[in-house]
Amino acid sequence: MKAVVIRAGNFWDGITEKPSGPREILVLGETIAEIGTTVSEPEGAEVIDLPGHTVTPGFIDCHVHLTLRPELLGSFWSYSPSFKALLGAEALNILLRNGFTTVRDCGDMDLHGFTVRDLKLAGEQGIIPGSRLVCSGHMISSRGGHMNAMLSLAPDSHPWENCLADGPDEIRKVVRNEIKHGAEWVKYAASGGFSTAGDDPQQVTYTQEEMTALVAAARDFNRPVSVHVFGDEAVRRSVIAGVRSVEHGSMASKETLCLMEEKGVFIVPTQLMATRPARLADDDAFWQRLNAPVHMRIKVRKYRDCLLEGAHNIASGTVKIAFGTDLGIFSFLTNGACEFGEMVVNGITPVRALRSATSTAAELLQRDDIGILAPGRSADIIAMPGNPFNDITVTERVDFVMKGGVVARRDSVLTLGMG
Ligand SMILES: [Zn+2]
Repeated sequence: MKAVVIRAGNFWDGITEKPSGPREILVLGETIAEIGTTVSEPEGAEVIDLPGHTVTPGFIDCHVHLTLRPELLGSFWSYSPSFKALLGAEALNILLRNGFTTVRDCGDMDLHGFTVRDLKLAGEQGIIPGSRLVCSGHMISSRGGHMNAMLSLAPDSHPWENCLADGPDEIRKVVRNEIKHGAEWVKYAASGGFSTAGDDPQQVTYTQEEMTALVAAARDFNRPVSVHVFGDEAVRRSVIAGVRSVEHGSMASKETLCLMEEKGVFIVPTQLMATRPARLADDDAFWQRLNAPVHMRIKVRKYRDCLLEGAHNIASGTVKIAFGTDLGIFSFLTNGACEFGEMVVNGITPVRALRSATSTAAELLQRDDIGILAPGRSADIIAMPGNPFNDITVTERVDFVMKGGVVARRDSVLTLGMG
């Protein structure tokens, strides 16, 4: 079995309040075998020296859309599933290089097929390189709701109806169809959004009865549910229905955040996508760079105070935060690790932000093999120059990535040796 010893200049396991200083990690095959100030060094082991670097668990992004590209929006819905699979494969490769060893796709935007499931299979079979993938199928939506509004660009194409459902019976059918086609999570939209033209983030697009039926149908198949939602009432109903994660949740009230905490519901605040535009609502240069549609800025301005108050409530409260970017809504050329900096700017402590992409994300995904560096866990190990607890932006400069014991990135700045 291949043995690798990693000598970390500084080490953080994904849980503790602070990094613990220099450590060595022994990796045997795909798994971490030993961690200590020194570890046993099997004969012939490869030694990887990472001086001046902080070594952490591989990051987990709980909210991406692999089969969506903003730069292609408009013509996007006419691209074939095979083309979207190629885009998704490229995205998985970029994500892994940036240190995201696991990602959850939060809504396959290929409505003609089940492309994210195929990407997952291709990754598991070693056909394509990239992050480990958890898939959610398509985002189930009411007619006139978020996914339907997203599709208003070309309303006559029939296959696009496959994620639309109204009333408990139709909803159960669509939930089971997504599960049949490999959805590990069930995702639905409970409110409108900002990036879409035809809806409003304060709309509530399902009744309590519909949401409860949806979550119950998923639960019977042991599938957790995540929900796209902005406005407070839609968050509240979703939490009562029994979702596991609230995606965005940007306008949830303090009371609703408390209810989430009580019920153990996670929030994935996607602040690069939701809070940053509100913070910079009047910054023309930012909006020019963002290249977002006009209606988005209008909606962000309309709800700016509510978005900023929501971000404050999340930072000052104790709800469990899991890391998510919503990449795909914006370009994969943006390093998703910028989300860490945005969280910290919005008052979330560095350690809470870092846990959100490691141990807390693993808890959300119900995975005991990733998110924490400990013996027996998968060797998903990354390194960045400097200390992210002092300067959170070093998370954007990951230059060593190992996934399941296999080195995926090792930049020339690193000293290498053979033991
Ligand atoms: Zn999303």
